[in-house]
Amino acid sequence: MARGIVLPDNGRLFEIRFESVGGLGAHAAGQIVASAAVLRMGLNGSHFSSYGSEKKGSVVRSFVRLAAADRAIRTSAPIELPDVVVVFHSGLLAHPATIAGIRAAGTLIYAGNDGEVPEGLCRLPATTKVMRVDAQTIAIEEKSRPNAVLIGTLTAALPFLDRQAMLNTLEDTFAGRHPEAVAANERAFRRGAEEFEIIENIGRIEGDLPRLSSNPLWGYRTAPIGGVLPTPGNTAHNDLHTSRNGWMPVLDADKCIHCGMCDMVCPDLCLVWSTHTDDDGKPTVTLDGIDYQYCKGCMRCVETCSTLAMTREAETPGKANRLRVPLFPELMQATGGKHVT
Ligand code: SF4
Ligand code: SF4
Repeated sequence: MARGIVLPDNGRLFEIRFESVGGLGAHAAGQIVASAAVLRMGLNGSHFSSYGSEKKGSVVRSFVRLAAADRAIRTSAPIELPDVVVVFHSGLLAHPATIAGIRAAGTLIYAGNDGEVPEGLCRLPATTKVMRVDAQTIAIEEKSRPNAVLIGTLTAALPFLDRQAMLNTLEDTFAGRHPEAVAANERAFRRGAEEFEIIENIGRIEGDLPRLSSNPLWGYRTAPIGGVLPTPGNTAHNDLHTSRNGWMPVLDADKCIHCGMCDMVCPDLCLVWSTHTDDDGKPTVTLDGIDYQYCKGCMRCVETCSTLAMTREAETPGKANRLRVPLFPELMQATGGKHVT
């Protein structure tokens, strides 16, 4: 066990919040960090996660609190004023809730492609340290997961975290269930600890960010009588692009025979069809493309397509916007088309 670990002297608990979507491994990451701190670094620690719906791609927050061994951790409330926020998908930075409450002296780590600096970063405090790591690409190259990369970057950001203790805990976590992943995770971890970029002069805010205020639009005093939903059909505003793990389906219209098999298996109804009249005056239906706002990248359409018209391609910044065929063009006009990044 590593001894003599000294936490930053902030007079309170040291708090880390992982911001992610289901499927990227944020819960496991929090578990590994807290386990390493408690079992191998002699600290006190606690960890838990909160989830949206069970569906892959919904928001997941994972919370880690650390304290010196002689200081008890007596709260299990969600972390509202974190010292560190780790963002597993750069698309999440479009939502102010992702960075809410971050401290001016804190650190933000986000997974983003080379050169990717999301607009949302300007809402950070000017003094917050910002680190970018291409967790997705490293994970794909090393046949690992983004969480291993991001834990590596976290150890680089927080020198008091014992790197070897973290690595040993990462290894123990997978040695039993996925022994083949141990070496890959170690490579991903080490690259995460080295291949990050520090983004300078990006935040514009003075002081700590305020915590996210919780003022539900509808509480027991204000809910419409009878539980009526006055805005039905609001799933049209869903945005599942953060569910994709670096890959997207792409349609080659020249190879498509419009058989509809992909539409039968797509769980999110994101394929866009149009009706025409052929030369004989008969109605025909053709596949026009994909609305990537609703596509979570499950690749069922690719696996089902018998003509190879639908293929899996690496997703690069802006590609989904370029190839997107909107399912609801009128909605796109109303929102300025800002759903997919
Ligand atoms: S399964 Fe393939 S060929 Fe059939 S409609 Fe879909 S993309 Fe076109
Ligand atoms: S990958 Fe294909 S099947 Fe899966 S959600 Fe996207 S369009 Fe639908």
